[in-house]
Amino acid sequence: MIKIHTLGYPRIGLQRELKFALERHWRGETDEGALEAVGAELRARHWAEQRDAGLDFVTVGDFALYDHVANHIGLFGCEPARFGFDGSETALARYFTLARGVAHEHAQGLCCGAAAGGTAALEMTKWFDTNYHYLVPEFDAATRFNLAPGRLLAEVAQARALGHRVKVALIGPLSFLWLGKTREADIDKLDLLDDLLAPYCALLAQLNDAGAEWVQLDEPILGLDLPGAWILAFERAYRTLATAQLPLLLSTYFSPLEENLSMACKLPVAGLHVDAVRAPHELQSIADWLPETKVLSVGIVDGRNIWRADLDTALARLLPLAMRRRGELWLAPSCSLLHVPLNLREDPAIDPELRAWLAGAREKLGELQVLRRALIEGEGSVYLELREARAALEARRTSERVRRPAVAARVAALAVGADRRASPYSVRQAAQQERFHLPPYPTTTIGSFPQTAAIRAARAAFKRGELARPDYEAAMRCEIEGAVREQEALGLDVLVHGEAERNDMVEYFGEQLDGFAFSANGWVQSYGSRCVKPPVLFGDVARPAPMTVAWSTHAQSLTARPMKGMLTGPVTILQWSFVRDDQPRSLTALQIALAIRDEAADLEAAGIGIIQIDEPALREGLPLRRAAWAGYLDWATHAFRVAACGVGDATQVHTHMCYAEFNDILPQIAALDADVITIETSRSDMELLRGFGTFAYPNAIGPGVYDIHSPRVPSAGDILRLMRKAADVIPAGQLWVNPDCGLKTRAWPETRAALANMVEAARLLRQPG
Ligand code: GLN
Ligand code: ZN
Repeated sequence: MIKIHTLGYPRIGLQRELKFALERHWRGETDEGALEAVGAELRARHWAEQRDAGLDFVTVGDFALYDHVANHIGLFGCEPARFGFDGSETALARYFTLARGVAHEHAQGLCCGAAAGGTAALEMTKWFDTNYHYLVPEFDAATRFNLAPGRLLAEVAQARALGHRVKVALIGPLSFLWLGKTREADIDKLDLLDDLLAPYCALLAQLNDAGAEWVQLDEPILGLDLPGAWILAFERAYRTLATAQLPLLLSTYFSPLEENLSMACKLPVAGLHVDAVRAPHELQSIADWLPETKVLSVGIVDGRNIWRADLDTALARLLPLAMRRRGELWLAPSCSLLHVPLNLREDPAIDPELRAWLAGAREKLGELQVLRRALIEGEGSVYLELREARAALEARRTSERVRRPAVAARVAALAVGADRRASPYSVRQAAQQERFHLPPYPTTTIGSFPQTAAIRAARAAFKRGELARPDYEAAMRCEIEGAVREQEALGLDVLVHGEAERNDMVEYFGEQLDGFAFSANGWVQSYGSRCVKPPVLFGDVARPAPMTVAWSTHAQSLTARPMKGMLTGPVTILQWSFVRDDQPRSLTALQIALAIRDEAADLEAAGIGIIQIDEPALREGLPLRRAAWAGYLDWATHAFRVAACGVGDATQVHTHMCYAEFNDILPQIAALDADVITIETSRSDMELLRGFGTFAYPNAIGPGVYDIHSPRVPSAGDILRLMRKAADVIPAGQLWVNPDCGLKTRAWPETRAALANMVEAARLLRQPG
């Protein structure tokens, strides 16, 4: 018996219907009923796609109006007390309050923290190593769980009424607890487990009564380095859940099981799903360890990337299992398809040759169907499908758009010292001081200035073909001039051009590099209503022409102060794209690094003396397992240095990183050897900086002095206090003064006011005594 299923499906809709429905609702244009109707419509459509693809069950419970983790907070009734809900709100209003906070009156719909007078939303953080952000549950000693299954049961009823066989997907109790944070240091999340298991058991009973046939319990934390107490807790938890009438499919993904493998195989559940894309090497031992009475669900199609599957390799992996195992074999994508676009094979913006190499969620379901038939009826039964897939793969393997001998030759010829600056930091520092004569506590910004309605309108008109290129470029030059004048008036020391011409820091570069493609509808949910359309990095990367030089030199021509050139680093471009699976990520990163290196050299030759290479995604690329960290950090820092080290001593290299815990990778951050690093620190009240101090970070550092996510204008006093705190841990001579991140989401009035205070704070800092 071979079944096919999916762990989850994209929910936003091909045309981002859910996004627009949410935004209409939040603007007060539609009521809850209208929003719920869009949700129901999307579910019905996506279940129909699953049924049409021959899946044995549709998956229910993966849909969320905002976030699936937040759904579980509602389901188990554990909204944090700090929101002060009194029961008079609708469930949906509470849900959106968790997600979006309550803004104070001046915040224009943005949550800006309790300090600013509202109630801060739940924190958001990345879902494992994906670019999806979930809302972080908050637990404390007073947390109580109260099952509120109405929404989920209604979805099960909807699917049943449409005639579907239902498998319900839930986050398992241990992963749910693990993903949450505790507000008090003295409570151990595991202490809440027993209280949480009771509503889980009650829910399983109700799902059984509602006609669900299976419940999939996602426990992706089984792929992490778990403390011993958590490993033991799995046995306890699943023994309790085993009393359910419904068969349970324990599902793991994103990472190998390693030391948790035999435990996962032994837990008292009816089936186990494993990620055979990320951990194909474990499949054999799982097949050996998993009792024959259990279902083995093999995640054989990549749920994290957009390439058409290699069906021959997949069959070679599956055949021995199908022949030998007496227990049921299920096939599925490796993880939920939330992380890939719905459909790519028909995307109007991608050329047909490339399209044939890709697979979105729908096409991945089709691949499962072909694999199942091949296993049951023999390869002859799907001869045409296999032939088409092979041809596409072969075309991709041999395409001149993918493999460019010149790029390979350049990588192979990379000199040993190419990732080192010519001189050590102290020598460069002297040369740069000689050149720029910057005052102590130099002031700068992170790159972008407000992307005003006028800028967005000009870009949209240009994209629609309504504004000719020369007119668009003239408009952007004008914006740059405005930004330069503003900065001069404010008295900033190192200026930026403001990035008006950039839609997005990765897309902007991807669009100008060979090896990247862009879809029209390749949307992936980032959080709530926010979607991203990651570039498809399909081929060897090359830079046909300079990408930023004209803008930066125009900006420099307008001022006598140093103008910082702005580039996105190779690791961030890699992290925020769908990348090729036919060569190691490290090699792809190196190819991008060479393109950025060339750009930096061109900027330098054009007289730009300060160059910033942003790497906000460096930290988030860390593998889930600690043992794999060193390998990643090695190639990631190498790629950055290759990008950054092609310039002379007197050229000052900056880098920028944000919203991350840096302390566990400080040696590698130092090894980047940027002359200046700007980082996010204001939200932690400079606490993040402490690690840099203890570590004796050697180069210059600009700890962000205010949170650009809030429209709140910090006073010069606030900034002064933070900088004095910074100067307690970092020698004053190493410090720069700058905001936390780019200002593109802000408006000019608050930007102007905040920067004026920042410049004033720097002036006060420079005063003797
Ligand atoms: N230079 C970019 C900007 O200012 C950096 C953005 C980021 O760190 N995410 O917008
Ligand atoms: Zn940033």
